[in-house]
Amino acid sequence: KSGFISIIGRPNVGKSTFLNRVIGQKIAIMSDKPQTTRNKVQGVLTTDDAQLIFIDTPGIHKPKHKLGDFMMKVAQNTLKEVDIVLFMVNAEEGYGRGEEFIIEKFSNVKTPIFLVINKIDQIHPDDLLKIIESYKEKHEFAEIIPISALEGNNVETLLELVKKYL
Ligand code: GDP
Ligand code: MG
Repeated sequence: KSGFISIIGRPNVGKSTFLNRVIGQKIAIMSDKPQTTRNKVQGVLTTDDAQLIFIDTPGIHKPKHKLGDFMMKVAQNTLKEVDIVLFMVNAEEGYGRGEEFIIEKFSNVKTPIFLVINKIDQIHPDDLLKIIESYKEKHEFAEIIPISALEGNNVETLLELVKKYL
C-alpha cells in the first residue's frame, strides 16, 4: 500500500512536531523552509506494510491577499489529488475563524478528511468531548482522532487508520 497524505492546519497546531515524530527530525525541519513549489514532499514513512508520502499544501490557511484566489485553487486542487487529508487543530484553542476558513475549502473535496485534534496532553477529557461535538457539526469527517504529537499518544493509531484508507 502507498498513498499521498497532506497535513493542513493553522500555524502552531503541531504539524511539524507530528512529522518529526513519524518520519524523523531531519526531513521535517527541511520542510519548514519557505517554499513556493507545489505539492512538495515533506517526508516519506516506509513501514513493512505501507509507504506514506506526506506532502505540503501551501496556501490553505493563508488569509486573503493579492494571490489569495489563485493560491486557494492550487491548495484546493491539492486536497483533491491526495489520498487522505489530515486536518490538524489545537485542542487548547477549539473551533475558531481560522478553522472555519479551512473547513470552507473542504466543500466539493471527496478525499477522506481526518480531523486530528492535537495537544490533548494539555486539556481535560470533558473538554475534548466538547471539541469533538462542535467539529461534528461543521463537517462530516472520515475520522476524528485526538492525539498528542509531542508525547506520542494515539499517533500509531492514527497511522493505522490512515493505512486502512489506502
Ligand atoms: P506547526 O506550525 O503546525 O508546524 O506547529 P509545530 O509543530 O511547530 O508546533 C508548535 C508548538 O506546539 C511547538 O512549541 C510544539 O512543541 C508544540 N506542540 C506540538 N504538538 C504538541 C502536543 O501534542 N502537545 C503540546 N503540549 N505541545 C505541542
Ligand atoms: Mg511547521
